[in-house]
Amino acid sequence: MIRFIKKLINSLNRADNGVCSICSQVFRDSELQLEGELALCPKDLVYYSDKNWILVREANSNPEDPEAALSIYNLKAALMEISIPSYIAAKYSNFDGKIISTFELFISSDLNDDFLRYVSSKSLG
Ligand SMILES: [Zn+2]
Repeated sequence: MIRFIKKLINSLNRADNGVCSICSQVFRDSELQLEGELALCPKDLVYYSDKNWILVREANSNPEDPEAALSIYNLKAALMEISIPSYIAAKYSNFDGKIISTFELFISSDLNDDFLRYVSSKSLG
């Protein structure tokens, strides 16, 4: 998991390329717009600004339980394939000296019905 996060951070920090937080495609840094902790490509910046975002999944992950975070990232990739754009916000907190990461998956509220249909068809609901 740590390796995965490092890879993700590296891909975001690479000298002149970055990854869009919504479509996960690589863009030149100059094309990406930062919105809080999100980096958005021109197309998704418009989409992001246009929509109402709702939290649909949340997972806490720690070094002993990295799977929870991975499931959120896998769900994001699966949603992208069926044209439900989403983004993940990560928060880190220190609990008794242990770093707990909270990963939150957001989708546009107008796609919530599609999302619920999808997760129930995959028995993920
Ligand atoms: Zn994008």
